[in-house]
Amino acid sequence: MSRYTGPVCKMCRREQTKLFLKGERCLTPHCAMERRAYPPGQHGSNVRRRATGYSVQLREKQKLRRIYGVTERVFRNYFFKASSQEGITGDNFLRILERRLDSVVYRLGFTTSRPAARQLVSHGNITVNGRKVDIPSFLVKPGMVIELREKIANKEFNQQSIASARVRKVPAWLELDDTKACGKVLNLPTRADIPLEINEKVIVEYYNRMG
Ligand code: SF4
Repeated sequence: MSRYTGPVCKMCRREQTKLFLKGERCLTPHCAMERRAYPPGQHGSNVRRRATGYSVQLREKQKLRRIYGVTERVFRNYFFKASSQEGITGDNFLRILERRLDSVVYRLGFTTSRPAARQLVSHGNITVNGRKVDIPSFLVKPGMVIELREKIANKEFNQQSIASARVRKVPAWLELDDTKACGKVLNLPTRADIPLEINEKVIVEYYNRMG
């Protein structure tokens, strides 16, 4: 299945929570969740569906997948990789998602949203250990240095988005060099380092149910 390219605010309305996919706009009254906080569609504001065990699991899975902007196939593969690792599958799963290069670029504050970070990476504007990496799904490891290329970092628009994005706290597993757009991976993130209101246990149950 290909990646969703329709209106992203619909996804927040579908999941009935802010997924913060539009950067600055998400914090303004123009946010669709502020104006139309009901599911999309003709009957969105009228229909009341009873939440079953399966629908809770499905919605939580979709919410997490949409936050990171990955396809179902990639998402499922991450789950299988996480379940084959030692430790708690839910924690492993979130750790893999968080280690994606586009997510790290967002966490370092180089952009105000993950979709913008994905674009920055795929346009070849990010280096890892001094070498260009244009694959958003690249998984970072401890010790790696992630840098925004100088000619891009100096553009006024990017300076503004870096400044506003830095209002968010950089997580403890990353280190940001404030003098230039450059960050280092100190260690792998723990669950406590990932500030997401997600119940990963029900996502694990969802995939276990699917077999
Ligand atoms: Fe979601 Fe942001 Fe759109 Fe609001 S503005 S609905 S948080 S993507």
